[in-house]
Amino acid sequence: MSIDRDILFRLATSTRLERVMRSVPRGQDLAWRAASRYVAGTSVAEAVRLVREFHGQGVAGSIDQFGELVGDPAVARRVADDYVSLATELAHLPEDTWLAIDLSHLGLDVDPARCADNLAAIAQALPEGRRVQVGAEDHVRADAVLSCVLTAAGRGLAGRLGATVQANLHRTPDDARCLLDAGVHIRLVKGAYVEPSDRAYPYGEPTDVAFLRLAHQLAEAKAPFALATHDGVLREALIAAHGPVPVEQLLGVRPDVVTDLVARDVPVRVYVPFGHNWFRYWMRRVAESRGA
Ligand SMILES: Cc1cc2nc3c(=O)[nH]c(=O)nc-3n(C[C@H](O)[C@H](O)[C@H](O)COP(=O)(O)OP(=O)(O)OC[C@H]3O[C@@H](n4cnc5c(N)ncnc54)[C@H](O)[C@@H]3O)c2cc1C
Repeated sequence: MSIDRDILFRLATSTRLERVMRSVPRGQDLAWRAASRYVAGTSVAEAVRLVREFHGQGVAGSIDQFGELVGDPAVARRVADDYVSLATELAHLPEDTWLAIDLSHLGLDVDPARCADNLAAIAQALPEGRRVQVGAEDHVRADAVLSCVLTAAGRGLAGRLGATVQANLHRTPDDARCLLDAGVHIRLVKGAYVEPSDRAYPYGEPTDVAFLRLAHQLAEAKAPFALATHDGVLREALIAAHGPVPVEQLLGVRPDVVTDLVARDVPVRVYVPFGHNWFRYWMRRVAESRGA
């Protein structure tokens, strides 16, 4: 693991840094100005406006309300209610609009069984043909996240679910097989978390090779999946091998690439997050923009 990546990641996930930034005069405004490239806004209306705009350009959107690591059952219930309303509202949004969520925002750490019920309720509330994409968090939560997704999928909701798999984790080929067998859509990412070396490949070539291997396996298995990466070399090698595999990108990262992909008829989906808890998300993106 490179020291730089470790340090940047720790800064990105530091609540102390966030408190300091928000408390210095104009700190909050300056941070928001820089962060707004990666964030739709603080309200759902701003996210909705953006997905409509993307749809007009031939790009699909996945709306996510920021939040993670909820420890209060009342908050988890409120988040679940918000998502169920949002899922219902998708009926009035372009047909390629999906939702995205991190299960620790939905109370995974408080009550995994209730979290699976909440995920199922959100999936159930979606109009036909839409999905809720579940994010991948650190390796410690990977079993619980997988189990929630498979539980909801087992209730006849697989066609309304998506899961994220991280190429850097050693466990991912097995997880991807379970998700594939269950019929859940797979979003393949490199992995944003700094993980211990006995659980994960380091950032860089070993993770890139794991990404390539997984993507080839998913494509050969005709799995419903997307390449969620801004790494042009990986993306183009995979498209050359398998045709126009769907690509997913984060809002604000390499928008020029989105335009190019659309022009080449490659299906593109952009992750559109909104909400007040944007600080840490922004710091992670800053770290990644430095190649960390
Ligand atoms: C749709 C989507 C969903 C994701 N969901 C998850 C998830 O649930 N769990 C998880 O662990 N990770 C998730 N990730 C993040 C992912 O794991 C990586 O951390 C992140 O995408 C950066 O890796 P990369 O594949 O783009 O490759 P990198 O090698 O990091 O980057 C490739 C190129 O893109 C440029 N780039 C990358 N980030 C930025 C940026 N912020 N600004 C400007 N340029 C940039 C780099 O400079 C480099 O040139 C998601 C990513 C996407 C696209």
